Amino acid sequence: MSGILVFAEQREGKLKRSVLECLALARAVGAGAPVHAVLLGGGTASAALPAIASELGRHGASMVHLSDDASLAQPQAEGCVAQLAAACAAVGPELVLFSASAMGRDLAPRLAARLGAPFVSECLAFARSDGGYTARKAMYGGKVFANLEVAAADGGAPVVATIKPGAHSTSGAVEASGAPAAEDVTPLAVVATEVRARVTAVTQSGAAGVDLQEADIVVSGGRGLKGPEHFPLVEALAASLGAAVGASRAIVDAGWVPHHYQVGQTGVSVNPKLYIACGISGAIQHLAGMRSSGCIVAINKDPEAPIFKAADYGLVGDLFEILPLLTEEVRKVKESS
Ligand SMILES: Cc1cc2nc3c(=O)[nH]c(=O)nc-3n(C[C@H](O)[C@H](O)[C@H](O)COP(=O)(O)OP(=O)(O)OC[C@H]3O[C@@H](n4cnc5c(N)ncnc54)[C@H](O)[C@@H]3O)c2cc1C
Repeated sequence: MSGILVFAEQREGKLKRSVLECLALARAVGAGAPVHAVLLGGGTASAALPAIASELGRHGASMVHLSDDASLAQPQAEGCVAQLAAACAAVGPELVLFSASAMGRDLAPRLAARLGAPFVSECLAFARSDGGYTARKAMYGGKVFANLEVAAADGGAPVVATIKPGAHSTSGAVEASGAPAAEDVTPLAVVATEVRARVTAVTQSGAAGVDLQEADIVVSGGRGLKGPEHFPLVEALAASLGAAVGASRAIVDAGWVPHHYQVGQTGVSVNPKLYIACGISGAIQHLAGMRSSGCIVAINKDPEAPIFKAADYGLVGDLFEILPLLTEEVRKVKESS
């Protein structure tokens, strides 16, 4: 048993940001053990795979196992799991990490079942313990946190886990040294597998614009906006910055915006470089989903609002005055540069 294996999810030739979080976590948990990445793709993504392999190396993968085949162009679970099982057989990892993306949620339990491995999903934190690993996850809709002890299976199967995107910083991965040497990118033979389900089309969800969990900048709105008719103030600032749009649960529950906008313990976790909270009080459940952001800016008229304790920069004032001014200034700067 050696090292930790990370599934390096890419979409259309672009590495998912949450993979860097898994690499950082693998480096922290592994404490020097080799970190292997499995990169699968084909078709139009093929040309981008070598660059992604280098990116993985720069972010902490000591070895990249690459399958480039037309059959992997549209990711479907049976083919991907066959490749992952082959990589596990070659590497013999003690731990396999997936991001808890739609794809990770699909592949990880299938791989665990195939390997007879213990599986833990949606981890917020993951650390080594005496008997194996301790995984922290939210339960009962985020009302309690559980620390689960996960022991390695008899017979040498690895522990398989999915990590909630945004729950772990990418900083440990960024410190890593240069790209992997050519010999560190190992072609994985394509495993012939009976594919019973095929992906015929991938349709974007209703969310327009930038993906919340992949964004470098997120602008979120809360109940301070007073009503759904004012949410365009948040969208305008986000558009000027090229940012994704998020929301507090209060306005999701009120039906102002769809559920997939919700940031927090029972929504999505985000980890952008810049998070701007507009009219959001900073309840603990909201902070749980954005506290690890690189820089937090809070706009709130109440100087005692808890969000200011988490913020790097705070603007105490009326968002109805601040947001249009800020949007205008950003536009001017963008136009002049
Ligand atoms: C089990 C559980 C899970 C939860 N999960 C989540 C979750 O995932 N995400 C989440 O967000 N919440 C979650 N919540 C809800 C959370 O506790 C808060 O109720 C919610 O985050 C509050 O949303 P808000 O900050 O928009 O509203 P409020 O708390 O009402 O805050 C509105 C803020 O706007 C400010 N404001 C008002 N007018 C203006 C103005 N003109 N200009 C500037 N500022 C203004 C106010 O000062 C106030 O601070 C959860 C709760 C529970 C119990």
